[in-house]
Amino acid sequence: MRPARNAGIMSVLIVGSTALDSIKTPRAENPRLLGGSASHAAVAASFFAPVRLVGIVGADFPARYLALYRRHKIDLEGLQIAEGKTFHWSGEYEVNMNNRRTLATELGVFETFLPRLPESYRNTPFVLLANIAPSLQSHVLDQMRRPKLVVADTMDLWLNIAMDDLLKLLKRVDGFVLNESEARQLAQEDNLVAAARKIHRLGPRHVIIKKGEHGAILSSGGKLFLSPAFPLRRVVDPTGAGDSFAGGMMGWLAAARGPVEAGLPLAMVYGSAVASFCCEGFGLAATTRASRAAIEKRVAAMRLLTRF
Ligand code: AMP
Repeated sequence: MRPARNAGIMSVLIVGSTALDSIKTPRAENPRLLGGSASHAAVAASFFAPVRLVGIVGADFPARYLALYRRHKIDLEGLQIAEGKTFHWSGEYEVNMNNRRTLATELGVFETFLPRLPESYRNTPFVLLANIAPSLQSHVLDQMRRPKLVVADTMDLWLNIAMDDLLKLLKRVDGFVLNESEARQLAQEDNLVAAARKIHRLGPRHVIIKKGEHGAILSSGGKLFLSPAFPLRRVVDPTGAGDSFAGGMMGWLAAARGPVEAGLPLAMVYGSAVASFCCEGFGLAATTRASRAAIEKRVAAMRLLTRF
């Protein structure tokens, strides 16, 4: 008998925020879009591997958003639906589309959220701890049985209000994804190469520093790798690009054969390709319109762009 086409593909567990986002750019304003770090990461990972989602939404969460997760074959057994309101975040971008201001964060059901893993999730080999309070990220790890790869993401908020929890978490993860300003803040170091070195000392073997439209740096095994970002002519809404990058990277790794160390550079390029789709529409609109074939085309384009 021939093996099934996707034999060997492993699953990715993703925990993070599942949110309603109200986003304002200089050109448009869109209220209550499907957002949250886990939503963006889960849809991105779903192009490559089966995804298990851990999060919480309120009774007000639109049924069409649950349907969107299901269209991407995302396992929702770990998504709690609670009395109360879904986490709501609103933000506004400046003309350059890089600087973002948070206008409001309404925690709603997130206030009392404690991630509970269904039994069927506990053996998941690939774990992405997308942006959420580091104590909750640790709580998820407490419930896992020997995952193959654990990668965490974060945001500046946790560096400011939960540094002790974050430092405890970092001792337990294999990889850490953060943006350049967070890396500088965490390492107290302006030079990103030196900052990555300092972050290794906090625990993670793989340190990935995102530089937005300028790509990302991987520091791992004493070596550096620079991933490009796919050059876009127009950015509509970059919200969730970092989460899409991390989700795409983890999804690709779960589907790949061979050691993680060897796969990480190409996984980052795939993550960048998915993130570029994310930026082309509000919320998840453009990401959900992407396809595996369209992602492959952008990866091929990035190969040509960086060959010399
Ligand atoms: P990014 O653009 O990659 O920084 O991610 C934006 C996403 O982060 C949005 O979809 C928000 O819903 C989510 N978000 C914003 N603030 C928080 C927070 N305090 N905790 C968790 N997720 C958040």
